[in-house]
Amino acid sequence: MPDTLQGLINSPRLSPQHRAIAAKVLQNERVTFEEGVFLYEHGELPYLGILANYIREKRHGDHTFFNRNFHIEPTNLCVYDCKFCSYSRLLKQRSEGWEYTMDDMFNIVKKYDGQPVTEVHIVGGVLPQYDVPFYQELFSRIRNHRPDLHIKALTPVEYHYIFKKAKISYAEGMRLMQEAGLQSVPGGGAEIFHPEVRELIAKDKCTADQWLAIHEEWHKLGSRSNATMLYGHIEKFWHRVDHMERLRTLQDKTGGFQTFIPLKFRNQDNQMSHVPESTVIEDLRNYAIARIYLDNFDHIKAYWAMISRNTAQLSLNFGVDDIDGTLDDTTKIYSMAGAEEQHPGMTTKELVELIKQVGRVPIERDTLYNVVTNYQDFEFQDEVKPQFYKLPVLN
Ligand code: SF4
Repeated sequence: MPDTLQGLINSPRLSPQHRAIAAKVLQNERVTFEEGVFLYEHGELPYLGILANYIREKRHGDHTFFNRNFHIEPTNLCVYDCKFCSYSRLLKQRSEGWEYTMDDMFNIVKKYDGQPVTEVHIVGGVLPQYDVPFYQELFSRIRNHRPDLHIKALTPVEYHYIFKKAKISYAEGMRLMQEAGLQSVPGGGAEIFHPEVRELIAKDKCTADQWLAIHEEWHKLGSRSNATMLYGHIEKFWHRVDHMERLRTLQDKTGGFQTFIPLKFRNQDNQMSHVPESTVIEDLRNYAIARIYLDNFDHIKAYWAMISRNTAQLSLNFGVDDIDGTLDDTTKIYSMAGAEEQHPGMTTKELVELIKQVGRVPIERDTLYNVVTNYQDFEFQDEVKPQFYKLPVLN
């Protein structure tokens, strides 16, 4: 296999379709739906890696982004019953759950006073007591307490539920959230958009159209959001392409998405435990195809806490340019689903080293991808210089 894009285009060993798609990538042309399916069905990892890495390096060079954040998960109880969810405990299992009060959540924020975190990420289960007035008060308390902390909170799953309960439109609801202090919307709750799959794995929560409509209203307010896709379970390849196609279409209209985050299905302790998980090869292929297909998304992110540190390093050669944040062991979403990281947290220094080990340049960003620190030549103050080990002396 040639190791450059031009080499792929000229290679007689590749099919005309493979060569045509490589030529499109070189010419910055959009890949069609059918070509997206072709890539999933016939794209081998080395081929996809060359295409995706070409796009990644053209956009970002070696820069690899991360942020310093912490999560608040208000509850793991949920009125919904998504089959893939290892995290939520239904209301009848209330004894296994937690339900934070407003003060509990505010105290978590205060724990970070004086620390250089730039983002609080708030997302969890859906319960009736967490309604529009509750979140208005929570956001404004955080905003007033710490105006420099970017509030990224709740997905359309929660918004659809609380706006319906409050009998207000999505447009009105998102306006109220923004006024209260919400600054970004994370990408969760998207799962797989196509009803053929969505009905089977997440049937009662917001539909694809509702998910997209809430993001559209948010973008109309001039704010940014992310998008995810839960892959590697019962969906077919074309469902993944359909999912990305819907995102690409909305992005053409609004330009409000920043980052696409493929989420690997994990099968521990949920109602789909019989479904095998995708391989690392498939995970990397999926990142690469996302980078190729979503030509109007700036960033592709891999959650290191979900796919392991080593796979996150590998993914940087397959289209990924962002590996999320330091986390500080504040999320249970990945560990409860069986992710390798049971207590996810890395110091900034560890994250920086992880990125440097594979020859990329670590860039700490804020939520909106403004550069906070370029760590290329950064010396950590507390760095322990290499020492010579004392050898035992044998008499
Ligand atoms: S995925 Fe979200 S909405 Fe679905 S059951 Fe789990 S917490 Fe609830």
